[in-house]
Amino acid sequence: MTRLNETHDAARRSLVASANEPGTDFPIQNLPFGMFSTATDPTPRPGVALGDQIVDLGRLQQSGAFSGKADAAARAAAQGPGLDELMALGNGAASELRAQLSALLSEESTKAPDVMKALVPMSEARMHLPSTVRNFTDFLTSSFHFTRLRPDGQLSRTFMGLPIAYHSRASSVRLSGDVVRPHAISERDGDLGFAPSTQLDYELEVGIWVGPGNALGDPIRIEDAADRIFGFCLLNDWSVRDAQWFESQPLGPFLAKSVSTTISPWIVTEEALRPYRTAAFRRAETDLKPLPHLLDPRDQAEGGLDVELTASLLTPAMRARGLTAEPLTRTNARHLYWTFAQMLTHHSSNGCNMLSGDLLGSGTVSGPTDGSRACLAEMNGKGTATISLSNGEERVWLEDGDEVILTGRATREGHASIGFGTAAGKVQPATRY
Ligand code: CA
Repeated sequence: MTRLNETHDAARRSLVASANEPGTDFPIQNLPFGMFSTATDPTPRPGVALGDQIVDLGRLQQSGAFSGKADAAARAAAQGPGLDELMALGNGAASELRAQLSALLSEESTKAPDVMKALVPMSEARMHLPSTVRNFTDFLTSSFHFTRLRPDGQLSRTFMGLPIAYHSRASSVRLSGDVVRPHAISERDGDLGFAPSTQLDYELEVGIWVGPGNALGDPIRIEDAADRIFGFCLLNDWSVRDAQWFESQPLGPFLAKSVSTTISPWIVTEEALRPYRTAAFRRAETDLKPLPHLLDPRDQAEGGLDVELTASLLTPAMRARGLTAEPLTRTNARHLYWTFAQMLTHHSSNGCNMLSGDLLGSGTVSGPTDGSRACLAEMNGKGTATISLSNGEERVWLEDGDEVILTGRATREGHASIGFGTAAGKVQPATRY
């Protein structure tokens, strides 16, 4: 595994005790970036998650804690309104900032009093979208998701030839919260109607945050693409299946996907995830090979990501009885057929300009086993089967009051285990139209 440094050192401990507790998503080896505010200071500002605390990046910068490129990166982050300016600087600048943060926040910190003054308890903070999300594109890159929902169960030449995607809706990307059941045009028993959707679904995905963009007409090359990705989050691409089945003839989904997208608030950086890199998905010998402009030896060697992903369901009945959410999906980002670098390269290969802070969805991260099916449509055979829950309840699709909670965790022997936080959304009843 290449390009590891002392920020990845599993032995490094933080001066913030909660960051040293086993099981925390945010040990000192993680240091994800996000935007937060507090009741006393409601302006969103950049922060870094550490244990159960947020490091106020601007406050630490103003104390004179940073130097050189790291100081410039911290000032860029503080420009707002999101982290777009930091993301635009490139991963070299983010890496300098990470290196100085890691030292400042460690047990050996030479500026512990300044760090302590910059801490805000997560419980007192409100999180905001980490970038302005000017564009959101959703891919379809799990071969297991694709084949389970295809009538013939086969990969198409298009799926094998390019990372399939559609331009989705940026304005309805949200952090954890409520999702109101939408009205939708659908066909039931041969009749067309417009009514509250009865086939609301989730899709467990990885979100990809674009770092430095490209000028219109100047594609990103595959060998440069990994360094153009700033980091990753969790993403639930809520899907309105009854709308989707009817409207996607012949174009792709429209209102089925723009209802809302829920993401986790912290951007786990490309650098933080380096220890958990793995080889790209191994294609069957009979599959089409990626075309040369999508093929890079380094990307093939380490373009995959070994991150465990879970989607859990908390029903109103579970909530009433004090039960914990039940995992419905346990999968791993390494099951994706295309790498993140290939997605970004393909997206810009016609010269389309990517912008810093753009969001890409990986597509539903389904794996080969039944337990790794990453949406209800795969579990219920497109609505033909019932899903049994361990408390005796049953589901076909999501019901009002159901909450879907996504989590993600990277673990590898010899390295600290890091997490993504959560992306949770609770279904609210349809409003009167
Ligand atoms: Ca999707």
